[in-house]
Amino acid sequence: GFKCGIVGLPNVGKSTLFNALTQAGIEAQNFPFCTIEPNTGMVPVPDARLDALAAIVKPERVLPATMEFVDIAGLVAGASQGEGLGNKFLANIRETDAIAHVVRCFVDDNIIHVSGKVAPLADIETINTELALADMESVEKALLRAQKSAKGQDKDAAKLVVVLEKLLPALHDGRPARSVALDDDERKALRSFNLLTLKPTMYIANVAEDGFEDNPLLEAVRELAASEGANVVPICAKIEADIAELDDDERAEFMADLGMDEPGLNRVIRAGYQLLGLQTYFTAGVKEVRAWTIRVGDTAPKAAGVIHTDFEKGFIRAQTIAYDDFIHYKGESGAKEAGKMRAEGKEYVVKDGDVLNFLFNN
Ligand code: GDP
Repeated sequence: GFKCGIVGLPNVGKSTLFNALTQAGIEAQNFPFCTIEPNTGMVPVPDARLDALAAIVKPERVLPATMEFVDIAGLVAGASQGEGLGNKFLANIRETDAIAHVVRCFVDDNIIHVSGKVAPLADIETINTELALADMESVEKALLRAQKSAKGQDKDAAKLVVVLEKLLPALHDGRPARSVALDDDERKALRSFNLLTLKPTMYIANVAEDGFEDNPLLEAVRELAASEGANVVPICAKIEADIAELDDDERAEFMADLGMDEPGLNRVIRAGYQLLGLQTYFTAGVKEVRAWTIRVGDTAPKAAGVIHTDFEKGFIRAQTIAYDDFIHYKGESGAKEAGKMRAEGKEYVVKDGDVLNFLFNN
């Protein structure tokens, strides 16, 4: 699976957001929602294209893509030295593929802030410093080992030494490893260390109900994120929690009152999906219209393998219709008549939204 870990200091709204995400998952979509562990939830990825496909195909059921969110509680200053849940917390982050860093940008005197005041930039620095310190420890250990092996003429080890040494100055300064320019080979060499600050990261700015505009706290987060090339998703976790609790009719009315056309959570989920480097292709049969998740850059056989390993092994070709063509020509037969159905082979790199039908040997 593809996991996005939710991190942040205590009392910034992580659990509120996580609960809303998983609750919305059950109610908004009729999907086999499952809680794998209390703090892990599979969440359907909202995608309006599914509705458009279903309106044409009229299938028995519609299945969205899903992604996994993990609520990782317990980070405080000193975690890398074992404070709070310390190492357990860091181990949990290590298992994720991307990080959603929740930052408190709402002021509420009733809710204690761990450092005594609402200060998003200081909060971000606290978390990023702990992550960088944890990585520094991993990198220093790995460096000692690689240096030993490099003496024994191990060429890969010698290369690894160079990469690890490149990371150390940044980590020493509390800057993330992802701020260091690395080529593909260097990234590959680092993969097995699962460095925390090398994971793709976005910031979730938890703002007050009226805090989406003219909010200096939010602007400060935006500026910092821009300097890192990171995305910021502003959200009011409290409103999202309220929305998630309503039934469908009440929800529509509540959102209309607030001038929202969809829950803010949808933006969080889509941003997470993108952060993980994922994209969607569709299968559109009368039994089922379904969104499948692949990585950006995956070829047609790889995409087939997501449905079944036999589809990948025995792959012959993929009948392919671009999403826009499928909609414009009102389905497969229309698209086919218009010459918009292509036969794509093993090398074809699947595009987001492709409607695919696989032919395979078994
Ligand atoms: P966590 O420790 O980061 O998981 O934080 P929680 O989700 O438990 O939230 C801590 C407290 O802040 C709870 O009392 C929440 O109800 C409250 N809270 C969360 N989000 C918001 C928000 O957007 N606005 C306000 N005013 N309170 C919030």
